[in-house]
Amino acid sequence: MARPGSQESVERMEFLLSLRRRGIMDQAVLRAMDEVPREHFVEPAFNEDAYADRALPIACGQTISQPYVVAYMTEKLGVGPKHRVLEVGTGSGYQAAVLSRLAREVISIERYRTLVDVARRRLTTLDFTNVDIVAGDGLEGVPDRAPYDRIMVTAAAETIPQALIDQLGEGGVMVLPHGPHNGSQAILRITKEPSGIRQETLIAVRFVPLLPGQAREL
Ligand code: SAH
Repeated sequence: MARPGSQESVERMEFLLSLRRRGIMDQAVLRAMDEVPREHFVEPAFNEDAYADRALPIACGQTISQPYVVAYMTEKLGVGPKHRVLEVGTGSGYQAAVLSRLAREVISIERYRTLVDVARRRLTTLDFTNVDIVAGDGLEGVPDRAPYDRIMVTAAAETIPQALIDQLGEGGVMVLPHGPHNGSQAILRITKEPSGIRQETLIAVRFVPLLPGQAREL
């Protein structure tokens, strides 16, 4: 925790205030955002921008999402303390860390080996013990650990991956960015009900693409 009155603590307070101002109401989500030190998830060169409300570049040409979008998607997912959550697209591990403060267990899958290794080490060092990071193709989900109460995808899907719908438990919720890779995308919320799938379109966003297969390069 930042020292009260210090530059860091003022920055952290403004960070939370800006999330509230933009409409994040859920206290548990705000607390989770407060508890995860974003400066440890950004590249050292971007340390000063860690609490600015924007996406930042990470290794392998990927990005750590904008804090507002992380908080928004987390709030819309409606995560509870008994939930097992699957995240597709570990990236820096930041979103997985936020989810881990709200859920019983988080399984996060990433297609770049380098990102898997860095995120795993980071989360262990920071003592996020209920997150398991898996290397692989998240379009296939992680079937051997299914079903999941909640699924969050953090890369844009052109079509909704059927494997993820299949791995969602009854009453489960999935939140994902949906749309063309270079066009307009929106967050979708999908709820698996006994009568079928319910789909809601939420805010417009811009995400890196969800790509098939494990990355060939590191
Ligand atoms: N949640 C991340 C943001 C990651 S950006 C964070 O908090 O930092 C999206 C990530 O999805 C990238 O790291 C990208 O490599 C990964 N990705 C894209 N397609 C994937 C797939 N099919 N399976 C697993 N990961 C994928």
